[in-house]
Amino acid sequence: MNRPKLKQWQEPVNIDAYPVGSTCPSDHLTSINAGWRTYRPVIDTDKCVMCLRCFLLCPDGVIDKSGEKLVIDYDYCKGCGICAHECKPGCIEMVKEEK
Ligand code: SF4
Ligand code: SF4
Repeated sequence: MNRPKLKQWQEPVNIDAYPVGSTCPSDHLTSINAGWRTYRPVIDTDKCVMCLRCFLLCPDGVIDKSGEKLVIDYDYCKGCGICAHECKPGCIEMVKEEK
């Protein structure tokens, strides 16, 4: 999956360095998931009917549908659970992250 370019946050050194509006250009992300996700979605690909509801509703666009089966990019998934909530066949389970 092609991901946006990363731009790390840098503490502004003076008032002029504070951003007006967005902190980085569109097509950039500030960083990958820093480990604060407590649950991760796991897709039962055998049960999945490829309706793509999860793909369409994921607010972060981290579900890749380019292959035969869906793949979640866990570097960017925040674990919000919307995909699991919206999967009508119930084939996405939110699994607690291990340390
Ligand atoms: S948990 Fe949220 S961010 Fe992660 S794949 Fe599901 S909808 Fe997208
Ligand atoms: S919503 Fe559920 S059934 Fe539909 S594509 Fe996603 S995982 Fe598969």
